[in-house]
Amino acid sequence: MNAPCFTVSRRAQALHTAALVVDGHMDTLLHLLRGNRPSLGQRSDQGHADLVRLREGGVKVQFFPCYIEPEYKPDRAVARFLQYLDLFHREMAAHAEVVEPAFSAADVERITASGKLAAILALEGGEPVVDLAALRVYHRLGLRSVGLVWNQRNHIADGMAEARTGGGLTTFGVELVREMNRLGILVDVSHLADPGFWHVLELSTRPVAATHSNARALCPHPRNLTDDQIKALARNGGVMGVNFAPAFVHPEPEKAGLDRVLDHIDHVCGLVGPDHVGLGSDFDGIPSAPAGLEDATTFPRLTQGLLDRGYDETAVRKILGLNFLRVIREAIG
Ligand SMILES: [Zn+2]
Repeated sequence: MNAPCFTVSRRAQALHTAALVVDGHMDTLLHLLRGNRPSLGQRSDQGHADLVRLREGGVKVQFFPCYIEPEYKPDRAVARFLQYLDLFHREMAAHAEVVEPAFSAADVERITASGKLAAILALEGGEPVVDLAALRVYHRLGLRSVGLVWNQRNHIADGMAEARTGGGLTTFGVELVREMNRLGILVDVSHLADPGFWHVLELSTRPVAATHSNARALCPHPRNLTDDQIKALARNGGVMGVNFAPAFVHPEPEKAGLDRVLDHIDHVCGLVGPDHVGLGSDFDGIPSAPAGLEDATTFPRLTQGLLDRGYDETAVRKILGLNFLRVIREAIG
């Protein structure tokens, strides 16, 4: 059998190049922090993304989560996050000609208009947020999005691997969501166990994001959202970024491919229209990428795929990034 051919038409490429393409999740900072890669600015033949490949893929806004590895939790989580903060700001300074940190929607618009990549500093796993004072300090240091948990339980909520006990947010978790709403830090509900998801949706006065989760109807994994959750996210005005991790794309991960990723987008649009879905690749956080989406240079193929499926240019622009931009404006400011 021949490998599928992924050509991108001039029309699709032009639309993609002009569009505000946002990727809601990518774990490249982890590899830099571990010393596996020398620099964000250098094209690497490892993993999925760097500033060169993001540019080739037409990405205009990139979330940069700091993933706190389990071995640092809980006692060394603050120290690990400080290392990430130092790394993030050093990388931004070292590559200031092509990337700049964005702390608001206005920053995103200004930075992308200047032709640079807008970088949003995020945290995956709330263990470093030991109290509200820490949250406020991190906000001053640029943090604008927090995934409350990874897969375990922490002092905020239960991760999806702890769903058995049925717990929502802790008392501190409730205070934290309120303070994030007040400060303008996006609440990321990816990785939460279902009761925590519902608890956040009940509480949050601002739109939230599932930065890197798919539709459970197409792939029944607890990291993905049920149809009821997707509808609730839409009522909240939020957004979900479709994740390229083969295990979240297809029940038989070896069958995951670009088409199936597009199926997840179709499913969400069929349920709630085109205003609540975006991209959350999980590049550099996934062991392998689906066929057709091998690394960050392949994003234009999604634009081609959406056009091929009959989406008009307005809907394509929303899915590529305007939905995320709306949530950034409403949740961060
Ligand atoms: Zn994740």
